[in-house]
Amino acid sequence: MATSGAAFWTSPDWDEHERVELVHDRASGLTAIIALHSTHCGPGAGGTRFWHYADPAAAMTDALRLSRGMSYKNAMAGLPMGGGKAVVLLDKNRSKTAEMLAAFGDAVEALGGKYVTAEDVGASEADMVAISERTQHVCGLPVADGAAGGDPGPFTAQGIYLGICAAVEHKLGKGSVNGVHVALQGCGSVGSGVARLLAADGAKLTVADIDPKRAEALASEVEGKAVAADAIMTTPCDVFSPNALGAILNAEGIAGLDCAIVAGGANNQLAKHGDGEALAARDILYAPDYVINAGGIINVSLEYLCRREMRECTAGQVQELISHIPRRLHEIWQESATSGEGAHIVADRMAQKLIGRG
Ligand code: NAD
Repeated sequence: MATSGAAFWTSPDWDEHERVELVHDRASGLTAIIALHSTHCGPGAGGTRFWHYADPAAAMTDALRLSRGMSYKNAMAGLPMGGGKAVVLLDKNRSKTAEMLAAFGDAVEALGGKYVTAEDVGASEADMVAISERTQHVCGLPVADGAAGGDPGPFTAQGIYLGICAAVEHKLGKGSVNGVHVALQGCGSVGSGVARLLAADGAKLTVADIDPKRAEALASEVEGKAVAADAIMTTPCDVFSPNALGAILNAEGIAGLDCAIVAGGANNQLAKHGDGEALAARDILYAPDYVINAGGIINVSLEYLCRREMRECTAGQVQELISHIPRRLHEIWQESATSGEGAHIVADRMAQKLIGRG
């Protein structure tokens, strides 16, 4: 069922990925790519994305880039996990079915624990339960109250909140976010969690979502202000917190920012690597996305590791690991200040060293 991805070794997104599996199961119609970027720190962990890709090349690009991002994220979070990611290609003739999930579970199992999957865009907890009927190498499963695991959103939000506090301390010299103005893009699971934590500390919030009702509901809950989705990036504020889409920090987006700090949970915020330089040139402090948004993977990784070792792990232990995110950010910013390089460059270098590619 699985074949090697040799044809993709010349792709510009190829980054010495250890293994790429092209998976096809005729009976269920499953077509998927499982990319293992690095298992230097442990099994490659990263979610499975179910998506309607424009073409297979776009799916391969996503798998290669996202799996590398997971290597960096897991290493920088201090997890004993490497980086991997799976994408399942859907189209009008192929929607997600129980048979497809079973075949995908078999493909994960065939890797013998080198890859550990979890939820990503287009996948639910119920999907992980279905996959777990065919493989033990899955996390993001339902857990008891107070145990490690389950919905990663609140844990991701917790890490971002702590990262914003650290950025405010580093850049603005303030020991609290009380009175600090945060413009928050995206009022979903992560964004709304971040907004609530900031509001509890007295931050001033402006929020936006492409669903204006969502933004208005959150604004009223946190006593903030809702603005149109296309106005949030130019809102004058202390902190711009992107929690919706990736690739928003492009030349135009960066030129329009009116903030001192960019710190939020969206994956792959920089449209191109060079856009990190543009942020640094504008003296905007950047919290590298894969460092600040690691709370969710910390949560589900602990769930997986504890289940495998048959020991109980609590949400408190997850919080303890998440509390190290600010320390890592401070290390990045300090080195960035010393070397004069952008935070994104420093973070990539630290991550590469941790995965044995320094
Ligand atoms: P979500 O789907 O719950 O929320 C995303 C929100 O963004 C939605 O309300 C959507 O309407 C809104 N949105 C989409 N496009 C927008 C735009 N152009 N302007 C304003 N709002 C827009 O997703 P989520 O789980 O909250 O994840 C948010 C981001 O964080 C994503 O980039 C995701 O990849 C990243 N992330 C999430 C987690 C997690 O644990 N959920 C972990 C790491 C990274």
